[in-house]
Amino acid sequence: MKFQLFLIKYAEIAVKGKNRYIFEDKLVSQLAQKMQRVEGEFEVWKTSGRIYVKALSEYDYEEALDALKHVFGVVGICPVIQIEDTGFEDLSRTVVEYMQERYPDQDLTFKVMARRARKSYPMDSNELNARLGEAILNACPRMKVNVHEPDVYVTVEVRDEINIYTEVIRGAGGMPLGTNGRAMLLLSGGIDSPVAGYMIAKRGVMLDAVYFHAPPYTSERAKQKVVDLARLVAKYSGTIQLHVVNFTDIQLAIYEKCPHDELTIIMRRYMMKIAEALAEKNGCLALVTGESIGQVASQTMQSLTVTNEVCHMPVFRPVIAFDKQEIIEISEKIGTFEVSIQPFEDCCTIFVAKHPVTKPKLSVIQHSEEKLTEVMPALMEQALSTVETIVVEP
Ligand code: ATP
Ligand code: MG
Repeated sequence: MKFQLFLIKYAEIAVKGKNRYIFEDKLVSQLAQKMQRVEGEFEVWKTSGRIYVKALSEYDYEEALDALKHVFGVVGICPVIQIEDTGFEDLSRTVVEYMQERYPDQDLTFKVMARRARKSYPMDSNELNARLGEAILNACPRMKVNVHEPDVYVTVEVRDEINIYTEVIRGAGGMPLGTNGRAMLLLSGGIDSPVAGYMIAKRGVMLDAVYFHAPPYTSERAKQKVVDLARLVAKYSGTIQLHVVNFTDIQLAIYEKCPHDELTIIMRRYMMKIAEALAEKNGCLALVTGESIGQVASQTMQSLTVTNEVCHMPVFRPVIAFDKQEIIEISEKIGTFEVSIQPFEDCCTIFVAKHPVTKPKLSVIQHSEEKLTEVMPALMEQALSTVETIVVEP
């Protein structure tokens, strides 16, 4: 069965008043942008509490549906048949044809759910339900009615035009991108940070990303893996500017001058500082990391506190309370898992101590960092002035 039109459902209850228009307009523009990447021509528009996506040309149904499933703010996607109101007989015939074509083996129970948004329609919804149900039963003898737990709800929406659909395909949920500012994601090659980025983007936040690499200790291939992950996240978050920071000299300086059991924590503090500087430069209002309490030595409560101390911006850690398995489940759902588990070194693992501190004290760490006061300003400056920015399109 071929559909030319999708009805887009969104969480209208959550947003009221003026915000609702902002929400809807952003959603329309996000849908339009997304469909531009799909082969074929599409039109997106909104009318009285409904958003539609219409194919104006030949197109691939699965490709279009996949694109729609990646748009935040969409709760449900309904492939619909839309007809003009040319009288009940025509409506009834169309509904019957729809059911016959869509469910040729007829082996199902159904319930008609008519909604009369246009009150001037000559039948009320109860009458529509009864008469359309009867017409389906007459034409499709193997179908049965079940008003409590039907296999299929046959929705018939009477507006200026009439929509007929039975399928509501689950959307990505969340808020449309652009309704909630921009944040800087610290994106490593691991499992957690792409998931963290996805979760924040889901709340309507656009993303930049920063990756710290340490050539020649980390390879081009490790960097490419991060680009690949950014591209997968961008399927949801839209284009990501990925800022690649050369972190080698800073790591070597820390390695040379600071106690080795404190390397990771000090390194993480400098990562946060640089990320924040880049965030400010690029109009981001917050940082995002994939940290989770207790996952590794650098993510104990004490370590997180010491890391956080250098930040002035809020740091969002959406997976903070998630078990690894729960994070993995999301990474599988959004399609980043397979890339995340590719075995490439990352810059943290190379300089990592055998027994890193798990309960760092801020005063002790600050004392160790004093040994860097002479070299660090120039190294930070250099790291920031040599950033390579890669525009990662979905
Ligand atoms: P992930 O699976 O996201 O790599 P992880 O469990 O390996 O996380 P850490 O290596 O301790 O944890 O890093 C914690 C967080 O710090 C990451 O989720 C990420 O946000 C950030 N981070 C770590 N290394 C880098 C890096 N090389 N570049 C950018 N961000 C990083
Ligand atoms: Mg990591």
